[in-house]
This record gives sequence, structure tokens and C-alpha cells, in this order.
Amino acid sequence: MKIRTRLTLLFTVLVASLFIVFASILYWSSAQHRENEFYGQLEREAITKAKLFFEAKVKPQTLHRIYKNNSQHINEVEVAIYNRAFELLYHDDVEIDRVKETEEMLASIIANKILHFEQEEWQVVGLRLTFDDKDYIITAAAYDEYGFTKLQNLLYTIAVLALLSIIVIGTAGVFFANRALSPIKKMINEVNEITATSLNLRLSHEQNKDELALLANTFNEMLNRLEYSFDAQKQFVSNISHELRTPLAAIIAELELSLAKEQTREQYVMTIENALADARRLVRLSNSLLDFAKASYDPTEIAFKPVCLDEVVLDACQKLQRINKSYKFSFFIEDSVSREEMMVVSANLYLIQVAFVNLLENACKYSENEQCNVSILYKDNHLIVKVSDTGIGIKPEDMEAIFVPFYRGENEYFKQGNGIGLPLTKKIIDLHKARIAVESLVGKGTTFTIHFPPG
Ligand code: ADP
Repeated sequence: MKIRTRLTLLFTVLVASLFIVFASILYWSSAQHRENEFYGQLEREAITKAKLFFEAKVKPQTLHRIYKNNSQHINEVEVAIYNRAFELLYHDDVEIDRVKETEEMLASIIANKILHFEQEEWQVVGLRLTFDDKDYIITAAAYDEYGFTKLQNLLYTIAVLALLSIIVIGTAGVFFANRALSPIKKMINEVNEITATSLNLRLSHEQNKDELALLANTFNEMLNRLEYSFDAQKQFVSNISHELRTPLAAIIAELELSLAKEQTREQYVMTIENALADARRLVRLSNSLLDFAKASYDPTEIAFKPVCLDEVVLDACQKLQRINKSYKFSFFIEDSVSREEMMVVSANLYLIQVAFVNLLENACKYSENEQCNVSILYKDNHLIVKVSDTGIGIKPEDMEAIFVPFYRGENEYFKQGNGIGLPLTKKIIDLHKARIAVESLVGKGTTFTIHFPPG
């Protein structure tokens, strides 16, 4: 069921129930009032007739005539008078005699002095009155036609009003629910307009601070983030294809050239070596991308275990030395690291190794002397690893961008690369809840510092 229908129904049912409760109370209290009022009227009538009979000594025939006359126009009260011996002294209309007085009834009137009860639809009042020191029982009975008609009219009026009110309330409910929910309808239409190709669209909203404006704002902020990451993805994919195309184009061009005309053995060897170097570049790139994808996993899906950082650094040095014999490493553990356990961090061994290989390789790659210095120290509860070189350095304007995928600094002319190493390293460091900082002076060297949080 739509919220609009639910709201309308709820609103209508609630107000209608309230109305019905009020109307029922009103009807019940009116009915109660009519009954009491009529009993009072009967009492007055009984007393008046008894006084006429006993005090004014009006003859029974005269009283009968008055009764007969009145009965033709109104619902006249039928009065009967008994003595204590339960003998009938007077009766307005013995032939009809609506109230069949019994001895128990009369005894109860004597005992209680006054009695109210109903016989069929007639209301009856029984009174014990004293005239000349003698007790008499007077009963007065009548049907309250006027009162019941008024009550009936009230019931009709309430029923018609209730029906009309429910219709008005229902219509008002639909109107207000529509009005209240129209911004949501508008939002749904606007959201339906937003597709992958129109992520720049945003939800319009009033400038006030109501919940819907907040919802639209939150949604717009989410769209900002989505658009940003969509653009970043697009950029990433186009960079990858560019990075793949360049070495592939070089391989194809070289192989086509050597096929086009006869070459010397040395020229063939050179072509093969060049193609091999380009193919290796491609393999490095695809491996880096694979690692980048791994480092982008949900951290809860990556296995962490205690890892000794000095071993990780030594492994990275050995690995790099196998690839490039001319790379040199100096490794130093400061005195602040007094115990072996201080170098243990919770890490994913494979990824943390990738990060250090990148840092150490860059240090050698961007230095004339191909020398990298690594030191491990302990400060303020943090294990710190510094990777420094005395190489060409990074220009201040490149400092921010070197962690952006595929960005290569102004010094890229110096050595080949693909701009994936540092962003990948940063991603891995972030994944380990560690922090990476860089300091560099052009022509003097660069230092990357990694702070590991306390285990
Ligand atoms: P690349 O494949 O270009 O080395 P990286 O992501 O590893 O990609 O590094 C990004 C850029 O940061 C490099 O192109 C380079 O300009 C700069 N850079 C990284 N490490 C160093 C360093 N130790 N010395 C000088 N420049 C560096």
C-alpha cells in the first residue's frame, strides 16, 4: 500500500473514530437527559393529579374528561391512585390501563417512596404520597413521543454529519497527503532521470531545512561522490589503455620493421631485446594493476597476521637486487628499537612487501648512485620506517600528485615507469592504517616515512 493511501486511511479512520466517540457520548447523554426529564415530568403530573383529586376534590368524572380531551392532542399521562389496601381509587383510563399494577409493584412503591421503571416503551413513575395523614400510591405512565422524536432527529443529524465529515476528512486527507508527498514524487522523477551518463544531474530542493531537503542534500552529496569515483574510474581505464597501447604499439612497430626487410643477426637480436623489454614493461604494469585491485578489496577480506618489518625490508632488498644488480641498499635499525618484537606489525605479507619494493625501487631508480637507505626506529609508540635516497628529488608542485594513479613527476624523463607504484603503495599503507609522508629537495634527495600505528 502506498504511503499516501496509508496516511489518508489512517487520518480518516482516526478522525472518524474520534467523531464517532464524541457523537456516541452526545447521543447517550441526550438519551439519558430525555429519560430523567420525562420521569420528572411524570412525577409532577402524578402530584398535580393527586392534589386535584385529594385537595381540590375535583370529581373523577371531571378528571376523566380532562384526560380524554388532552389525549386527543398530546400523549397524556395516565394516572392511577391506590390506597394502602391496594384498592383503586381513581384511574384515568381503566379500559386501556397500560400499566398493570401488581401488589409487589405497589408494595415496592410503599417501601421505596418512589419507583422509576419502564413497561414496553412506556415510562412509569410510582409515588407514595400522604394526604390527610393517609398514604396513597400514585402511578403515572406515558410514552415520551416528543422526546423520542427529538432523539431520533438527533441520531439522523449525527449520522448525516458523520457521513459528511468522513467524506470531507477523507478528501482533505488525500489532499494533504498529496501535498506533503509531492516533493517525494518530484524527487522520484528526478532520480529516475539520473543514469550513468547523466551523473551530473542533482535533486532540486527548497532552501529550508526540513527532512526532505536534508534527504535531497544527502542524496546529492552521494551523487557527488559517485560522480567523482565514476570519473576517476573512467580516467583510470583510459590511462590503463594508454599505458598498454604504447608498449604494444612499440612491439608491433619493431616486429613489422624487422619483417619488412632482411636484417643482420645483431639487428634481429636488438629487435628481440627491445620487444622483450616492452613485454616485460607490460607484465610489470599488469602485475601492478592486479596488486592495485587486491589493495582495493574490502579490508575485512584481506588476511592480516603479525609480520616482522625488518624481514620484509630485507626480502624487498634481495628481490630488487636480483632484478637489478647495480642497486645498492643500506639497512639500519636504530637503538630505539630495543627488542625484536617491536618490529612486529599486523600486516598482509604479500601487500606490505609490494609497498616496500616500490619505495625501495623508486629510491634506487631516481638516484644517480642507485643507492637506497632504509632505517627503522621507534618513537612515541610508533614503529617508523624511513626510505631515503640522495637522488634527483621531487619538485614541490609534484608532491601532491605523485600518489595519483598514472601520474608521473616532472622527473619522469629520468627512468621508465607507469605511475602506479606510489598510489599502490599509499593504498596498501592506508589499508594497514599506517601513514606515509614524503620530504624531498630537488637535487638533494627524497625521504618517504611510514608510521605504523601501535599494535
Ligand atoms: P613511476 O612508475 O613513475 O616510478 P610511481 O608511482 O612509483 O611511478 O612514482 C610516481 C612519481 O613520483 C614518479 O614518476 C616520480 O616522478 C616521483 N617519485 C617517486 N619516488 C621518487 C623518488 N624516490 N625520487 C624522486 N622522484 C620520485
